[in-house]
Amino acid sequence: MKASQGHKVIKAHAKHVACDVYRVTCDGLFITGTDTGVGKTIVTLALGTLLQEQGYDVGVMKPVQCAGNDAALLKKGLRLADSLAEINPYLAPEPLSPHIAFQRQNICIRVPKILEAYQRLQQRHDIVLVEGAGGLCVPLQGEYLVADLIREMDLDVVIVARLGLGTINHTLLTIEQARSRGLRVRGVIFNDLAGKPHGIPEKTNPQAIRRLGGVPVLGILPRLRSLKTADILKQCRGRLDPKTLLYSSSARRDANRLAEWDKKYIWHPFTQMKDWLNDEPLVIDEGQGCYLKDTRGRRYLDGVSSLWVNVHGHRKAEIDRTVKAQIDKLAHSTLLGLANTPSVELARKLVGIAPKGLEKVFYSDNGSTAVEVAIKMAYQYWQNTGRRKKTRIAHLANSYHGDTLGSVSVGGIDLFHHVYKKLIFKTVKVGFPDGYRETDFDGALDRMEALFGKSRGTIAALVVEPIVQGAAGMIVWPEGVLKRVARLCRKYDILLIADEVATGFGRTGKMFACGHEGVSPDFLCLAKGITGGYLPLAATLTTKRVFDGFVFDYKDQKTFFHGHTYTGNPLACAAALANLRVFEKERVLSRLQPKIKHLSRRLKMFYNLPHVGHVRQKGMMAGIELAADRETRRPYSWEDRIGVKVCRLARERGVILRPLGNVIVLMPPLAVSESELDELLDVTYGAIETVTAGSG
Ligand code: PMP
Repeated sequence: MKASQGHKVIKAHAKHVACDVYRVTCDGLFITGTDTGVGKTIVTLALGTLLQEQGYDVGVMKPVQCAGNDAALLKKGLRLADSLAEINPYLAPEPLSPHIAFQRQNICIRVPKILEAYQRLQQRHDIVLVEGAGGLCVPLQGEYLVADLIREMDLDVVIVARLGLGTINHTLLTIEQARSRGLRVRGVIFNDLAGKPHGIPEKTNPQAIRRLGGVPVLGILPRLRSLKTADILKQCRGRLDPKTLLYSSSARRDANRLAEWDKKYIWHPFTQMKDWLNDEPLVIDEGQGCYLKDTRGRRYLDGVSSLWVNVHGHRKAEIDRTVKAQIDKLAHSTLLGLANTPSVELARKLVGIAPKGLEKVFYSDNGSTAVEVAIKMAYQYWQNTGRRKKTRIAHLANSYHGDTLGSVSVGGIDLFHHVYKKLIFKTVKVGFPDGYRETDFDGALDRMEALFGKSRGTIAALVVEPIVQGAAGMIVWPEGVLKRVARLCRKYDILLIADEVATGFGRTGKMFACGHEGVSPDFLCLAKGITGGYLPLAATLTTKRVFDGFVFDYKDQKTFFHGHTYTGNPLACAAALANLRVFEKERVLSRLQPKIKHLSRRLKMFYNLPHVGHVRQKGMMAGIELAADRETRRPYSWEDRIGVKVCRLARERGVILRPLGNVIVLMPPLAVSESELDELLDVTYGAIETVTAGSG
């Protein structure tokens, strides 16, 4: 068999087996090295011994071994009952790279055999430590590398590095390779092979790796003089703490308790708690890149960016580092009467990237408050400047801008808002098409103009989500609509509030949706992605004109009397600064364009499904509207909960989605790779196909 053919066979078959891997509840770790001979086996033995001491049932695996007796040493040292053939399915006698060592024996490595042996071990143990062969880029067969095997086994990686001069380069290269190959690094363990008194390199290696690699250093293994269990424990205690490694497996042990406490103590947002209490909650415990992991060790693709906030993936090294560094300086200080460093720096950056004319930044904590601030500012601006009749706020009839009473007042989603009708203030509602059942945007704009003309002098502001109305159902405006809305606002002296809480920070393919049509609103409301999805923070940007409408003597009582306790929180602002740095450094927006095209191409195929009524997309925001009858566009009734069912099935298949009624929303982190995007689309397609089959 040719190497390249072999590679394909391995992958196709292994995919099938790997499906079951994420369903089992055992934790596993892959122990790799920066090089051969760095002491992976000794580290595996030490870890296993320490874990056993803490009461864990530990299994080991050495899938591929060329010469030596690593597997036998581990079996004996950890007193394991598993057969050597299971621990080590592939053994070659010569100390060569596996791709040569096995070829010389005419042995073809079959990954499914490795995965099957691994699954059996998983069923028997709490945790399985899988020791690799050499480093990540060692070829096992043909072009198939150790890194490919790790990905298929779906394991987190622990890197063993030697301690001393020269290790930083090797370790950072290994971390970099792991990341670029989509692997999750749980941390680095240094092995003190020399066992000599520590000089400057040995003392500073861990700090360098933590800082430059952005990964935890899990411990330093001393040079072991004896491999007896008691001696290992004596030598390693206090230097290597396996608990730091077992974050997820200890959480897994607590999974049932956490689920019980969740039901007992938490009231979940936007959730009918009767359903929740009858169900099994999914408790998320970790994140890495575009994936989330629950307390039972199952992995899910984060298909809606943790409710539209995550941008560069979870545990993004640059943001992690920045927030940690900020913690060491200052966690919080108020903006009421004081300033703080990160909030000043961030305001300057935001003004730098915002549409022209937006020069002042007012911070708050979330999307709803960002919109409330804009509404109150717009209203007070006219009061302060003598246009007292301009008191009414206009908005689109089918809009959503948040859940506080002010933002509910400018919302129009009946299901969420009708119960509060008597609590909210009166507004001017502008009918607007959904782009599917109604498509006459020109007519709507004409009617908007007529309305503005009729109510001349009384409308203070118009609130819109530019181009994509997210929570309203991922409605996408045709080109030119936003520009015309902006022109109408100028013409009738109505302040334009652009709510870019959902669309901001690259979601639509540009930094801000307003940028697609060169529109500069009077207010820009930002939240969600502003911190890359790390911390709650919002900003309302406005013009000098509006700002100057508040600059008077104190006795005039024209101050903007509004402010939240955590306004301008330094940790959140530091995260936001790091978020923007990543946008620049990694050229996120230009690298996004091929992914957007790929998404468009793949979305077209959804029309092959008979119950897909309409597919909408702008950038990395997409909505797939399901219809009971595509011909007549008859929707599913809300009692069918068709969207919920589709998302439920997708979750069972390893993808987290959240619907908006009959609309399946896809909004992965911008960092999503093409293959992850394929996984998201494949699972969504399959889930829609299964759930809608024979319905309507
Ligand atoms: N505006 C828009 C456009 C939104 O999508 C949202 C949240 N989905 C909000 C405002 C409210 O944001 P938050 O939930 O942070 O209050």
